[in-house]
Amino acid sequence: MTDARILVVGAGLAGLAAAAALARAGHRVLVVDQALRPGGAVHRQPLPGGRSLASSAQARRWRALMAEVDAQGARIEIVCNTRFGGVDHTGTVLLTGEGAALINPRALVLAVGAREAVQPRPGWTLPGVTTAGALQTQIKTTAEAPAGRVLLAGSGPLLLALGAELVRLGRPPLAIVEAGRPFSRPLRSLGLPLSYMAEAARHLSRLLAARVPLLTGAHLTRISEADGALMAEVETRSGARRFAADRIGLHDGIRTNDTGLTDCAALPVLRLGDCREALGANAALADGRAGGEALAARLAGQPAPTASTTLAREASAQARLAQIYAHDGATRLAGLPDDTVICRCEMRTLADLRTLGPAPTTRQLRLDGRFGMGACQGRFCAEWVARIASPIAPHALGMPRWPARPISVADLLAAPDLTLGETK
Ligand SMILES: Cc1cc2nc3c(=O)[nH]c(=O)nc-3n(C[C@H](O)[C@H](O)[C@H](O)COP(=O)(O)OP(=O)(O)OC[C@H]3O[C@@H](n4cnc5c(N)ncnc54)[C@H](O)[C@@H]3O)c2cc1C
Repeated sequence: MTDARILVVGAGLAGLAAAAALARAGHRVLVVDQALRPGGAVHRQPLPGGRSLASSAQARRWRALMAEVDAQGARIEIVCNTRFGGVDHTGTVLLTGEGAALINPRALVLAVGAREAVQPRPGWTLPGVTTAGALQTQIKTTAEAPAGRVLLAGSGPLLLALGAELVRLGRPPLAIVEAGRPFSRPLRSLGLPLSYMAEAARHLSRLLAARVPLLTGAHLTRISEADGALMAEVETRSGARRFAADRIGLHDGIRTNDTGLTDCAALPVLRLGDCREALGANAALADGRAGGEALAARLAGQPAPTASTTLAREASAQARLAQIYAHDGATRLAGLPDDTVICRCEMRTLADLRTLGPAPTTRQLRLDGRFGMGACQGRFCAEWVARIASPIAPHALGMPRWPARPISVADLLAAPDLTLGETK
């Protein structure tokens, strides 16, 4: 079904900023998001009737963006609980969920954000072990800390932010186990934007006031179940430690959420925000706005507007953060025990990977090993399989495909009969 509108996938900062820019240029825009409400990762909204934990600066940024969107009236339609399933070579887009449809939009903007990387460890598939982002989602939507003792482990600034949030809610985490040593050379932090330093200082002062142990250069090496709790074994610079926890939040960095996404010659396709390059919230907003303006100019046959300077600034800040948090955690993959699960979807272990030989092909990995073949299609395991089964290219398992994600038969049967809004 041809749709005169531009389709924006993702109602986070980048998607909504792009939608507003396109609508200002006179285009009609359909925004879809798989979540129940717009907001994306940073501005995730509380459940109906719930209270928001957003800081005043975050609330201001969100209100300003929504005012931009609202000012465009009927030019922008937002349909939530609707998932982008992929675009085929003819430019047909499959949407599933509440707004299920097969449509041919005029252009496609992919603003599907970032995802968390979580490195395999023995016990990482046990109940009660989730990504740190999942705990953050629970907190943002319910305004409540998860019940029980929480341990945070992995690497990256998100662990500090989440730890500080748990303190604010009166439930300090047992500890933060950070593989990097971000405070070992403070001079390296001086090149960061002041806003980054101020945010880190706020988080750290909360954590220190609550006496949360901040173990740097430390690794969570194994999780097991004992006496109804999760037992976490941690290797620190001063020896081994054990923590009995009810919930463990793992986080080993942020990656672009681009698994399975294809380009398409039949229509303009743009990736914006964290989905193009994971550079954080300020960059996502700037990239969405600039990308929307650039697409509008392209559709009008006009020259592209000048690039935003925010992106270059945020890219350099993120590169510095990566240096500050650098660690050798990934080298530990080779030393994992044979029974460590690598592919969570099909419970394939390191031993299963090793039986494929020293240099398996992508075909062997997928067909014989079943790696990257489960529901996540490699989103979780491809990076680690590629590192262990080198020289496989990092994207070999999470390759572009149609559909981009597994789709139920019910969705496929329903889609051709449905249209979204006005079509021509
Ligand atoms: C777990 C996690 C937590 C983060 N927490 C913070 C934080 O607290 N503070 C901070 O500054 N930055 C945080 N970040 C980084 C932050 O996500 C970004 O910098 C910013 O939100 C990026 O904006 P965006 O619009 O590009 O993507 P997002 O805000 O992530 O928006 C992407 C949207 O796309 C939707 N989507 C994804 N796939 C589909 C699909 N197939 N179909 C339909 N919709 C889809 C998602 O539901 C989401 O609403 C976090 C990132 C992650 C991964």
